[in-house]
Amino acid sequence: MMKCPNCQSKDLGKIGINQYYCWNCFIELTVGGRTIHTHQVEEDGSLSSLDDLFDEQERKLS
Ligand SMILES: [Zn+2]
Repeated sequence: MMKCPNCQSKDLGKIGINQYYCWNCFIELTVGGRTIHTHQVEEDGSLSSLDDLFDEQERKLS
């Protein structure tokens, strides 16, 4: 089961192919291979990466 690397919530909504949205902390998650990429949606609708905030280990799919 996939969980949010930021808040550990499993309350994730699927928004596209390999794309999820965390309803708890409102970040977007994209799964690429075995790694979760994290993005924040800015006010203007653009995405900024949050991957720097997490260790690669934290973003691995279990
Ligand atoms: Zn979250």
